[in-house]
Amino acid sequence: MARIDRIRNIGIVAHIDAGKTTVSERFLHHAGLIHRVGEVHEGLTQMDWMPQERERGITITAAATTLEWREHEIHLIDTPGHVDFTIEVERSLRVLDGAVVVFCGVGGVEPQSENVWRQAEKFHVPRLAFVNKMDRVGADFDRVVGELRDRLGARTAVIQLPLGVEQSFAGVIDLLTLETVRYSGEIDDVGTRSPVAAEMLQEAHRARAALVAVIADVDDQIAERFLAEADPTAEELARAIRTATIRHRIVPVLCGAALRNKAVRLLLDAVVDYLPSPADVPSVHGVNPDSPDEVVHRTPSDKEPLAALAFKIAMDEGRKSVFLRIFSGTIEAGAEVWNPRTRQPEKVARLFAVHADRRKRLDRAGAGSIVLAAGLKHATTGDTICARNAPILLERIDTYEPVISIAIEPRSQAVRERLDLALAKMVEEDPTFRVKIDEETGQTLISGMGELHLDVIVDRLKREYNVEAAVGKPQVVYRETVLRPAESTATFERELKEARLYGEVTCRVVPLDRGSGLRVVSALPSDPAVPQPLIDAALAGLEEACQSGPAGFPLEDVEATLLAARWREDSQPEVGLKVAAGEAFRRAVSLAGAQRLEPVMAVEVLTPEEHLGGVIGDLQQRRAQIHRVGDRSGIQQIEALVPLAAMFGYSTDLRSLSRGRASFTMRFHAFS
Ligand code: GDP
Ligand code: MG
Repeated sequence: MARIDRIRNIGIVAHIDAGKTTVSERFLHHAGLIHRVGEVHEGLTQMDWMPQERERGITITAAATTLEWREHEIHLIDTPGHVDFTIEVERSLRVLDGAVVVFCGVGGVEPQSENVWRQAEKFHVPRLAFVNKMDRVGADFDRVVGELRDRLGARTAVIQLPLGVEQSFAGVIDLLTLETVRYSGEIDDVGTRSPVAAEMLQEAHRARAALVAVIADVDDQIAERFLAEADPTAEELARAIRTATIRHRIVPVLCGAALRNKAVRLLLDAVVDYLPSPADVPSVHGVNPDSPDEVVHRTPSDKEPLAALAFKIAMDEGRKSVFLRIFSGTIEAGAEVWNPRTRQPEKVARLFAVHADRRKRLDRAGAGSIVLAAGLKHATTGDTICARNAPILLERIDTYEPVISIAIEPRSQAVRERLDLALAKMVEEDPTFRVKIDEETGQTLISGMGELHLDVIVDRLKREYNVEAAVGKPQVVYRETVLRPAESTATFERELKEARLYGEVTCRVVPLDRGSGLRVVSALPSDPAVPQPLIDAALAGLEEACQSGPAGFPLEDVEATLLAARWREDSQPEVGLKVAAGEAFRRAVSLAGAQRLEPVMAVEVLTPEEHLGGVIGDLQQRRAQIHRVGDRSGIQQIEALVPLAAMFGYSTDLRSLSRGRASFTMRFHAFS
């Protein structure tokens, strides 16, 4: 087990195609984990392990991998860049301590990089910026650094300059030591260091002075040196850069060409030197599950009680494993742990360190590590795993609501059962994926975050589960809400052979502001107290009924309150109350009047000035509400809210409107 200050939990995040997978592959190779590097375009990489990822050349599942560099243990999470999989990015950011953001030296800051940048900001993740593809025609390091500053508002600390560019790109100038580091392009070449040549010295000095000025702004020791006009040493600078990066004061900027095996080793060095260990980040907090007002803090130490977050479920040959980030304490293989959500103990049968293509058994794992646990049957994404005698409930990971659905049908009835089974497994893995049977048509509907998301699911059905399925046209997922407050009572009574069922429930529904979600609460009088199992049964009845309004869509922005419950002791009151609550709710909704809500997306378009009019006109035809149009270093940025139903085919239309020059991102905003 590595000492905590020798652990780095990092993610590589980037706009699609910037080179994230290639960089990850080089990390693994340089660390000695893989011996043959498969290129992305050959469809052979080790990180993109799902076949459809290899084919599409994109990375979908965040696979966690452990590698060693300079006696440090680096846990690498390969995060997806596509907007449909935003939840995977957020999930990863919750459990990471630092990130490497990869930019393309030609494309620079693209809309999707802005998205992930803002997410990293939200989760206070310290970052390094890596400007990749410096060998490509049109690569421009200074321009990308300018975009980092202007578009992302980053306080950049440029610690390397490119040595040559495009075809002649050969390595970097290390501004701390004022050395050039050249690479031959052979994957195992560790680079050759030499003092900066005379003709480049002036430029290098100027860049180093600029770096010192940036650091002097955020570090007292360097400020003193700066004022005394003394040059800080490389060690002094490195220490200051580390501190300032961890405190989010600066973003060190590096460059290279991963595909050409140039300068990725220095990026690994920078991960070790500048990104935080789990001990460098603020202690994690949660609440006491037994009294939710009591905040509990845990410092990242093996000596503290266990607190871990289940951040990803992986299904492997039908068996379930759980990725855990351990924030405090230790887990031993075979030990019993506590899940405060289910209020059940569970056994961790086996523990593994995860490499890209294999697992290594562990006896024990400590604070700061990321491991895979087998044997946790009930844990789902977002659950806390803790010590029973010191319970803590960590904040859950936000889940996103699915907004697109398609009908799916097996090509032959013989595989119907396999289809249902496979879908159920995928639901367990992915909190943004849902399966539902349409009550009227009997069709199976699957829903998710976007068209690509569902495409990938259908593809996996075929490959992993050998189920060929036919799918319908994508449909928008609607919601319903109520127009006015209303109250209703329902009684349920039934005589069965062996049992009598009885329950009577009164409930109220109240419309909430848009975006509030659903609230199901009990306002039953405390005297005489209603037994908790009966309250739970009635609430479960309400929750179930909320799944389907008068038009068959789930309810949204509604508060449902349990006002009264009556039962008879001899009547199996749980069943009676549950059914009565559902019926009371349906009656109340019908009295209140229901209204359909549609998903509205926050859309951001970047376009050159000359296409602005055309893009805005087109958005208006799509019922867009345009909130802001602004100039960002010569590019016009439009922010708008647009109903999802009007956004089908938008990428094609935008491309032809702007001759391929405009780009956009879209994420779920609200049901409205
Ligand atoms: P990802 O989508 O961010 O994971 O990007 P990939 O690693 O899949 O790379 C996208 C494409 O860019 C692939 O065709 C890579 O071979 C190519 N690529 C990656 N790094 C470099 C580089 O340093 N230089 C050049 N010229 N191409 C690169
Ligand atoms: Mg990739």
